[in-house]
Amino acid sequence: MELPFSESYKIKVVEPLRRSTRDEREKWIREAHYNLFNLQSYQVFIDLLTDSGTGAMSDRQWSAMMVGDESYAGASSYYKLKETVGEITGFDYFLPTHQGRAAENVLFSALVSEGDIVPGNTHFDTTKGHIEYRRARAVDCTIDEAFDTESEHPFKGNIDTGKLEKVLKENPRDKIPFVVVTVTCNSSGGQPVSMNNLKEVKALAEKYGVMIVFDAARFAENAYFIKLKEKGYENKSIREIVREMFSHADAMTMSCKKDGVVNMGGFIGMRDEELFHKAGVYNILFEGFLTYGGMTGRDMNALAQGLVEVTGFDYLQTRIEQVACLGKKLREYNIPVQVPFGGHAIFVDAKKLLPHIPKERFIAQTLAVELYLEAGVRGVEIGTLLADRDPETRENRYPRLELVRLAIPRRVYTNNHMDVVAAAVKNVYDRREKIGDGLEIVKEAPIMRHFTVKLKRAER
Ligand SMILES: *Cc1c(COP(=O)(O)O)cnc(C)c1O
Repeated sequence: MELPFSESYKIKVVEPLRRSTRDEREKWIREAHYNLFNLQSYQVFIDLLTDSGTGAMSDRQWSAMMVGDESYAGASSYYKLKETVGEITGFDYFLPTHQGRAAENVLFSALVSEGDIVPGNTHFDTTKGHIEYRRARAVDCTIDEAFDTESEHPFKGNIDTGKLEKVLKENPRDKIPFVVVTVTCNSSGGQPVSMNNLKEVKALAEKYGVMIVFDAARFAENAYFIKLKEKGYENKSIREIVREMFSHADAMTMSCKKDGVVNMGGFIGMRDEELFHKAGVYNILFEGFLTYGGMTGRDMNALAQGLVEVTGFDYLQTRIEQVACLGKKLREYNIPVQVPFGGHAIFVDAKKLLPHIPKERFIAQTLAVELYLEAGVRGVEIGTLLADRDPETRENRYPRLELVRLAIPRRVYTNNHMDVVAAAVKNVYDRREKIGDGLEIVKEAPIMRHFTVKLKRAER
C-alpha cells in the first residue's frame, strides 16, 4: 500500500500543555474583555492566534545560536545572514530589523509621504498602518475572486491588473512611491500570487515607472504553491522559484517570524544603493547600527539557518499538508471554510456560520470567542475589528468577509491537535443557533484597535 504522509522531522524537545474547564474559560474571557489577545498563554490549550514568531526552531538553528557573534559592528553573523539573504532572494543590499513592521517603518520612512497612494493586494494591517500613519492611502487591487470564499481560483492573492492600471493611470507618478505585493497574501487568506501575475504586475509598474516592493513574510509558502499549481514550475526547485519571484521586485520587507522560522527578526532587501543609504539612516535611527538593526548576532545566525530550511521542499510539504489536513477535516464536518486552503491558516467563514448576527455586532469575533469557550482553542478575528474605522469618516469599515483565522505555528502542533481543533469547531457549528447576540465595543484605540479593544456581550 501507499505509505501515509508524515512529518519530515522528529521531536527532540517538548513543552507541556494545560487543559482547562469551560467554567475557567468563561471567567478568563470575561476578564480579557472578550479580546483573545488579552488571554494569558496558560489559559489557552491550542494556540492558533498566529503563525508569527511561534514556530519551533530546529536543532541546527539552536546550534547556530551558540556561535552568534555579538560584536556591535561588523559581526560575522551579519555577514552570514547577508550572504544567505543574497543567495536566496538575489537582493544585494540588506538591512536587518527587529521584525516585519520595523522593516516597513524604515523603508516607508524613506519612500512614503503625505498624500501618497500605495496600491497592492490586500495590505497587511501593519503595512496599511504604516501607510496611513504617514497620511497616505493604501488601495486594495486584489482580484474579486479573493473575496469569494468558495471560488477555487488557485491564486487568490493575485493583483487585478485592470484595477492596478486604473490607479497608476489616474494618479500622478510622484504620488505612487511603489506597488506592494504581499506573498502569500495574509489578509486575503494566506493565498498565493502566481508567477505570471508577478510578471504582469512588474511589467505594469515598469510601464508607469513605479517600484515594486514585496511584503515577503511567507515567500517560501508562496513558492511551494507555484510549484504545485502553476504550469511550467512542477520541476523547478523551491530555490529557483524563489529567485524568480524576487526578480520581479525592486525591494522587499520581510517579517522573519513567519518564513524565517525564528521567534523574532526582519529585514529589508533592496537593489538600489541610493535607497539603501537613505533607508540606512532610518535603520540607525529606529533599529540599530547597519550590521545588527534590532537583532542579536545569535538571532541573525538562527535566521540564516531558518531561511535555508524554509526553502526545502520536504519542510514546505509537511507544513502546507498540515494546514490542508485541518481544512479537509473541517470540510468533512460541513464547516464553511475558505478554499483553496491557504499556506499558513484555515479561515472559517463566520458570516455563513452565524448568519443571524448583525455585522455591527462583530460576527467573526463572536465566533472566535465561542471557539475558545468550547475547547480553549485561540484563533483570531479577521473582520470588522481588524478592518478598523475609516481614517477620515471614523465610521466602521465593514469588510466583505468576516473570517476566523486558525493560523498554524510552524513545526509546533501535531495532526492530532488539528483533529481536536476541527472537533471543537464542529461542536460550535452544531450549537450555532443558540449563539447569542454578538459583541459590542466598550473601549478602542484610535489605530490598530483589534489588539487592545475591550468588548462586552451585546444586549438585545
Ligand atoms: C506579520 C506580517 C507583517 C508584520 O510583521 P511583524 O514581524 O509582525 O512586525 C507584515 N506583513 C505581513 C504579510 C505579515 O504577515
